[in-house]
Amino acid sequence: MTASNSNRSHAVAELAAGAAARVAVIGSINMDMVAHAHRLPGAGETLAGNDFVMAPGGKGANQAVAAARLGATVDFIARIGTRQYGADLLASLQAEGIACAGVQTDATALPGIAVIMVGREGGGENAIVYVPGSNAQLSPADVSGSAAALQTAAVVVAQTEVPLAAIQQGFELARAGGAVTVLNAAPALPLSDALLAQVDWLVVNETEALQLSGLQDTSVEGLRAAAQVLQLRGVKQVLVTLGAEGVLLCCAGHPAQQLPAFVVDAVDTVGAGDTFVGGLVTGLAEGRPAVDAVRLGQAAASIAVARCGVQSAMPLRAELPPEFAPQLASA
Ligand code: ADP
Repeated sequence: MTASNSNRSHAVAELAAGAAARVAVIGSINMDMVAHAHRLPGAGETLAGNDFVMAPGGKGANQAVAAARLGATVDFIARIGTRQYGADLLASLQAEGIACAGVQTDATALPGIAVIMVGREGGGENAIVYVPGSNAQLSPADVSGSAAALQTAAVVVAQTEVPLAAIQQGFELARAGGAVTVLNAAPALPLSDALLAQVDWLVVNETEALQLSGLQDTSVEGLRAAAQVLQLRGVKQVLVTLGAEGVLLCCAGHPAQQLPAFVVDAVDTVGAGDTFVGGLVTGLAEGRPAVDAVRLGQAAASIAVARCGVQSAMPLRAELPPEFAPQLASA
C-alpha cells in the first residue's frame, strides 16, 4: 500500500468512527452588489433602479457554504482584503461554521467585488463588472500555511477564480496527505499538464468542457468527446454538468453515464454549479461511491434552483430526501 492509500484508509476509518466529513476549499470570495432596474442603462445613462442587494459570493465561498450546510466540516483557504466589506465577508463564513484559520487578511486591499446590474425586461438580462481584488493575490505560500488543514481533509476542492499556482501547491499538499482533489475549472482557463496531474476529479459545465477541450459540438455525444479529450490529458474522472439535463459522469475504463437532474420548477439557476460541487465534495468526503456523491450534489442543486438567491438558496442537509441522510455509504 502506498503512503497515500494508507492515509486514505485512515480517512475512511475516521468516518466509520462517526467523524464529520472534512473538506478544504481553496478559493475566491467576493461581495456581490446587485442593482435591479426595469432595464439595463445605456452607456453614459443614469437610470433609477428599484432594488439593491449586497450579498457574499465568489465560487470558493459559495462551495464552502454549500458543503457546510450539507454537514461537511469545512476549512476555507483564501485571501480577503479588509479595506472595505472584508470583515462582513469573514463574518458570513464564520456564521456558517466554516473554519477561517486559513484565510489571510490584508487591510490595504479590497476583496473581490462584483457589480451586477439586472434589467427586468428581456427576462432578467444582466451586465457585470468583476474586480478580483485580493482573490488574485492568493499565493502558494498562503496555501502552504494551511498544510495541516489540507492534509487532514478527505477532499480538497478549488475553482479557477484564484491563481493556478496556489491551487497546484494546495493539491500537491493535499495529495501528499491522501486527500482526493476536485478542480472546478470555472472559469475555463488554460490548465497545465502539471496541474491536471494533481486532479482526481475535474468538474466543468458545458461551456467550460468545450472551451477546455477545443471542441464545438454541444450535443451530449460532443460533450462526451470533450470529456475524453480532458481524460487523455491525465484526469481519470471528469464530470460535465448539463443544467436541467443532469450530469455526465466519465470515469476512465467505464462507459460515460448520464445521470438525470431532479425535476423541479427552477426559478433562479445562478449558483447551481456551486451547490452541485458543494454536495459532490461532501458526498466524496463521506466515502460515498461516485454515483451517490453526484446524486447528493444534484439533489442539493435542485433545491437551490427552485429558490431565489445564491448562498441564501442553498439547502441544509435535512432538507434533502431521506436517502441522502448523512450515514456512511461505505460503512
Ligand atoms: P453551472 O451553474 O456551473 O453552469 P449547471 O447549470 O450545469 O452548472 O448546473 C449544475 C447542476 O445543477 C446540474 O448538473 C443539475 O444537477 C442542477 N441543475 C441545474 N439546473 C437545474 C434545473 N433547471 N433543474 C434541476 N436541476 C438543475
